[in-house]
Amino acid sequence: MDNQTERPGEGGDPAAAMTRLIEALYPICRSITGEGLRQSLRLIAREIPLSLVEVPTGTRLFDWTVPREWNVREAYIATPGGQRVVDFARSNLHLLQYSVPVDRIVERNELLRHLHTLPETPDWIPYRTAYYREDWGFCLSQRQAEGLTEQHYRVVIDSTLAPGHLTYGELVLPGARAEEVLISCHSCHPSLANDNLSGMAVATMLARRLMARKRRLTYRFLFIPGTIGALAWLAANETVVPRVTHGLVLSCLGDSAPLTYKQSRRGDAAIDRIAAHVLQASGEPHRIAPFTPYGYDERQYCSPGFDMPVGCLMRSPNGTFPEYHTSADNLDFLRPAALAGSLEALARIVEVIEGDGTYLNLSPKGEPQLGKRGLYRPIGGKKEAGGGADQMALLWVLNLADGRHSLLDTAERAGMPFAAIRAAADALIEKELLAPAAG
Ligand code: ZN
Repeated sequence: MDNQTERPGEGGDPAAAMTRLIEALYPICRSITGEGLRQSLRLIAREIPLSLVEVPTGTRLFDWTVPREWNVREAYIATPGGQRVVDFARSNLHLLQYSVPVDRIVERNELLRHLHTLPETPDWIPYRTAYYREDWGFCLSQRQAEGLTEQHYRVVIDSTLAPGHLTYGELVLPGARAEEVLISCHSCHPSLANDNLSGMAVATMLARRLMARKRRLTYRFLFIPGTIGALAWLAANETVVPRVTHGLVLSCLGDSAPLTYKQSRRGDAAIDRIAAHVLQASGEPHRIAPFTPYGYDERQYCSPGFDMPVGCLMRSPNGTFPEYHTSADNLDFLRPAALAGSLEALARIVEVIEGDGTYLNLSPKGEPQLGKRGLYRPIGGKKEAGGGADQMALLWVLNLADGRHSLLDTAERAGMPFAAIRAAADALIEKELLAPAAG
């Protein structure tokens, strides 16, 4: 059952913990509403104290309306002899999401008009949706479709589209300050691993880490159905929006591609600088992409009426990898090391958000004499790294601590990782050579 000792964020192997969570979530048929979405959020709520928010069908969300709730008992295509040739029970990708109920015999030609395949990758099942139109359909491999040679088929879709709720998950971890960091991930795709489950697992793990530490800022995690869930949260939280000083949408964080950071609409928000600094300082290949009004829920957070400082952290961007929105985006497609690397990058971003500040050199006329204060030794607890890096960090912090440059400014100008600059500042504070600048 539930292994209490190996939950994410409580030691152990974070990649293994995230993989276990993803494996548990993978078989569930999620959508933008319905029991599968609720069940998934409840699974995450066993890891972190997530609240489930229910928004009734018909609720107006700016230019949108919460749709009817969609649930599926079973769905299949059967031969006249009763053999099920395509079955939702075998893969939840087989059913076009939001298919209306159907139970009838159809001619092959009519059936073909309701089938979705990927001829170029004939063994893969596509993922397709019809959220906001009345339709039904099946998604199947090209090879399966080619085997449909009977004149008639029975189509059964035992689904319900009824007034209900849209569900999303929310967790607020209060900090010393009211300013908020928003972490948002879409949680509405069925059996797709990189696209939705990787972001959900990394967000869950990050939340557990933040729960275990002192926080300067307040952190708000959202696990939401794409687009409509972000709109639901925004509509109910317009007063929170101005408090959000940093935000990240998480998506596709488990494949083998290098990390990509997509900037906020503003392009010069603090999060844009912080993410760029962390990726550059990692020394690993990465990409900084400008904002585009496409992708995931940054589209909503960065709409002009909100213009929030929200970027998107990902590996392969949506739509750029062949497995995207197909049955090949499965558990085998994920790289545990990639999940762990994504979490580490996020943790470093959080370190900058938590640790940045502006300081004053208390001995600014000439260099203070570091040797007599014991600062020519490596900084407390840090490994000896030739001493040079730490010495340079001390000198940079002292030089730029004029009340106008932040530690992130210093890290950027020094070309050093923020953590080294922060450690130097802490050592100088301890020796009373540095103090926070007023305001
Ligand atoms: Zn997607």
